[in-house]
Amino acid sequence: MSPLGQSSWSFFRRLLHFFPFRARNAGVMTTVTRFAPSPNGPLHLGHAYAAIVAHDRAREDEGLFLLRVEDIDGARSRSELSEEFRADLAWLGLEWREVAAQSTRIARYRAAFDSLHRRGLVYPCGCTRAEIAAAATKVGPDGPVYPGTCRTRPVPPGRDVVWRIDVARALAATGPLTWRDERRGEQEARPDLLGDVVLWRKDAPASYHLAATADDAFDGVSVVTRGADLFAATHVHRLLQALLGLPVPVWHHHRVIVESDGRKLAKRRGAPSLGDRRRAGEDGRALAERLRAGLLDSGLSFSEYVNMVP
Ligand SMILES: [Zn+2]
Repeated sequence: MSPLGQSSWSFFRRLLHFFPFRARNAGVMTTVTRFAPSPNGPLHLGHAYAAIVAHDRAREDEGLFLLRVEDIDGARSRSELSEEFRADLAWLGLEWREVAAQSTRIARYRAAFDSLHRRGLVYPCGCTRAEIAAAATKVGPDGPVYPGTCRTRPVPPGRDVVWRIDVARALAATGPLTWRDERRGEQEARPDLLGDVVLWRKDAPASYHLAATADDAFDGVSVVTRGADLFAATHVHRLLQALLGLPVPVWHHHRVIVESDGRKLAKRRGAPSLGDRRRAGEDGRALAERLRAGLLDSGLSFSEYVNMVP
């Protein structure tokens, strides 16, 4: 992969200093949070709770709550859903400022990726899913850990290639790292728990890890709120911040809504969408108040759902 010329990572990083949301107020940085849904399905109660937590956390400090549409997965993204998201947030009684969708930021992700590539911190992998499952010897917080097969072999011809971060080499470059969760305190960064995760692929260019990390920095997000199911991903994000020279936010991993079988609420298993509830005439502000009070529809409960160390 070749660098993009003018769009070097140092160019993008310099932009950080001019970002409007990083305005200082009496010497104190404004608290900025964000809700970042993907337009590959309608929002449900779990999303409503995540948006309310982010919104209320910003409001606590008279800060700013942002909406960012994570539409980078072109194959699955449906643009009409972005309008639905706005209607859902308004229905819940939230106020937000919308920032640029991810699909407009690909050059920035590419520059970040190129910067890692130039330093030899990523490598191509041509393993199939079955090969990884067969070779994996460790199970991490998100499933089988990639065994590092392609770190030392050329990619077999004819394979689709993804690019993985070399976590051991990256950690050697940064040294030990820590991060802080508002609810769980200081954490030692352990990206090795997830292994050499994918940062770049052909169909959905930048991975969630790379795109979300770059975006949160550029959007000036100072408190990253998100479900506790993403707790382990933060180890990787902290590593990427150190490698890319990005500011380090604090995190706030909140509980998630689960069904009676303990699994996360999901549209594909029949969770009604916020749009359906809105169109059926339900009072969205009243729903938001119930969620704030921890009251859920029957059959649902809150779970810490933390995937820390297996
Ligand atoms: Zn591989």
